[in-house]
Amino acid sequence: MINDEGSKRPRKIVHIDMDAFYASVEQRDNPNLRGKPIAVGGSAARGVVAAASYEARKFGVHSAMPSVTAKRKCPELIFVPPRFDVYKAVSQQIREIFAEYTPMIEPLSLDEAYLDVTENLKGMEIATEIASEIRARIRQVTGLNASAGISYNKFLAKMASDLNKPNGQAVITPKNGPAFVEALPVKKFHGVGPATAEKMHRLGIEIGADLKQQTIEFLVEHFGKSGPYFYGIVRGIDQRQVKPNRVRKSVGAEDTFSQDLHTYEPAREWLQPLIEKVWSYCEANGIGAKTVTLKVKYGDFNQITRSKTLPAPLPAIADLEEIIGFLLLPIFPPRKGIRLLGVTLSSLERQANGTEPQLRLAL
Ligand SMILES: [Mg+2]
Repeated sequence: MINDEGSKRPRKIVHIDMDAFYASVEQRDNPNLRGKPIAVGGSAARGVVAAASYEARKFGVHSAMPSVTAKRKCPELIFVPPRFDVYKAVSQQIREIFAEYTPMIEPLSLDEAYLDVTENLKGMEIATEIASEIRARIRQVTGLNASAGISYNKFLAKMASDLNKPNGQAVITPKNGPAFVEALPVKKFHGVGPATAEKMHRLGIEIGADLKQQTIEFLVEHFGKSGPYFYGIVRGIDQRQVKPNRVRKSVGAEDTFSQDLHTYEPAREWLQPLIEKVWSYCEANGIGAKTVTLKVKYGDFNQITRSKTLPAPLPAIADLEEIIGFLLLPIFPPRKGIRLLGVTLSSLERQANGTEPQLRLAL
């Protein structure tokens, strides 16, 4: 069995990828666009296509193509302005669905993520069943289609999600992984961009089998740090873990004054926008904080901090304001003028209504 630690059982990785995401959202929300070649972003005269509907792709229109070229390839092409707020909201919906299955979610973009479902919250054994359930849930909740790739590492899961697109899924098993990679053109490898593909082409490397013949020394010589990665993936080996979004350890804001402060009232006033900034960040991200730290830097650059930790997260901004006032007061009168004040919240935890549901479930 091929996995990162040899003796452990193989991992089960699912890569979920929404089909023609921005374009599909536009077609969902505007029936007049359904069944038609559309391009999100750009215009008939300028810019580049951000996303193309499948109807447009039939004409050879694809993302990152100059709009003028796209219009030439497909004179019927309809240009639609992007609505990123809507795409973000849909992205949030699909991440909530992922989080019903696993907290091990690594988003690659708004419409794509790796999930490690080796251990999953539903206790399901078969990763392909998890993938089809997730796709059905996405369809039910958002009205949109997703494709999935299932495999024993990230590279192969990502490659697999393309195999039966749109609205399909494919599995690559440890048994057929190496053969699959050998037959794959290197320009299709995830992690091989156009420049690298061109370089490989010049070296006579067209498909996986060509790449597999190269020594690791040769690959390092020509591709630097990517060499060992290429050496591994061409053998179906990819040890990269699914990394959930990093949890922040603290949230802070600070301000330096043009003139040193010597009295309490203006200091307290300067702190108010900092308090509001850190509080609104935490609120927007569903983060609760138990520790409040006030940072004071004097005109001579000496610095002190004063902290208070509560047994439970601060319930309201008024509590934060009160604690800051309580920490600030004993500092006056200051031994020197104050040149900087900062507010930091730490001992963070996810709130029940957080916007990062994978972390909410981890609690
Ligand atoms: Mg996609």
